[in-house]
Amino acid sequence: MDIIVLVKQVPDTTEVKLDPKTGNLIREGVESIINPDDLHALEAAVDLQETHGGKVTALSMGPPQAIDAISEALGMGVHEGILLTDKAFGGADTWATSFTLGKAIEKIEEYDLILCGRQAIDGDTAQIGPQVADYLNIPQVSYVCEIETIEEDALVAKTRLEDGFERIHCGLPALLTVIGELNTPRYPLMGRALDACKEKAPIKVWNAADIGVQTSQVGLEGSLTHVIKTFAPKFKRETEMLEGDTREMVGDLMGRLKENRLI
Ligand SMILES: Cc1cc2nc3c(=O)[nH]c(=O)nc-3n(C[C@H](O)[C@H](O)[C@H](O)COP(=O)(O)OP(=O)(O)OC[C@H]3O[C@@H](n4cnc5c(N)ncnc54)[C@H](O)[C@@H]3O)c2cc1C
Repeated sequence: MDIIVLVKQVPDTTEVKLDPKTGNLIREGVESIINPDDLHALEAAVDLQETHGGKVTALSMGPPQAIDAISEALGMGVHEGILLTDKAFGGADTWATSFTLGKAIEKIEEYDLILCGRQAIDGDTAQIGPQVADYLNIPQVSYVCEIETIEEDALVAKTRLEDGFERIHCGLPALLTVIGELNTPRYPLMGRALDACKEKAPIKVWNAADIGVQTSQVGLEGSLTHVIKTFAPKFKRETEMLEGDTREMVGDLMGRLKENRLI
């Protein structure tokens, strides 16, 4: 079973700070990590490979330092990694990101399953998985919390809904977006990364030309959406003291909560 895992390197914080002048994300001094959901995708891929054989490839688009995320994935047992990095990929919206990842997957050619996180903690759109599946024209199952069975040409996955679960049968190749309930990711070990290096150089670096795309199709130029302004919301707090006897105050409070649609 050949599995591709989409891995995004993200800042190690869910509290994104913005430069008030430029509206850009302040990345200086913030450590980078593998997006938390992607660790579960990596664990699932390595676990499936250990049972069914085949190869696991970690694929990431990002700046050169995203190679650290791929090295960590090798430490978890992934066999090879591909980093898509090129100035032309910068400023990509989700469409351009999915297109670039899709092109790289077409170049990889052979795969049975693509696993990715449900959502990245910085961009937060949860669009990449479904868009990559759409680009490749393969089935997708999102919010997967258990892979119940998997055979050569199909799988059964359990997915989390707001108020329950759903069990889905799906043909392969397919793309699954996974959530934290799926498993407990193993720690990366230096030994595993070194094992991967013994056979060959396990990390490939591809640019726009390597995946056969024009610079006008990717990054900011290839993006269909453009951010006009980024800003942090301002919270307004007002305090008001209610007076009177308890029954009167509770009635007043309930009325105000209803009026503001808080209950
Ligand atoms: C108009 C616009 C402009 C933008 N400009 C910039 C910019 O200038 N600079 C910038 O840094 N960001 C920019 N972004 C954000 C960038 O588009 C997103 O970070 C990126 O497309 C991924 O979306 P997401 O983070 O919401 O991922 P989600 O869809 O939430 O991620 C789901 C899963 O997809 C996979 N995935 C996501 N991204 C990658 C990746 N790069 N490589 C491999 N796997 C991945 C992971 O498995 C992840 O768990 C911009 C976004 C928009 C809408």
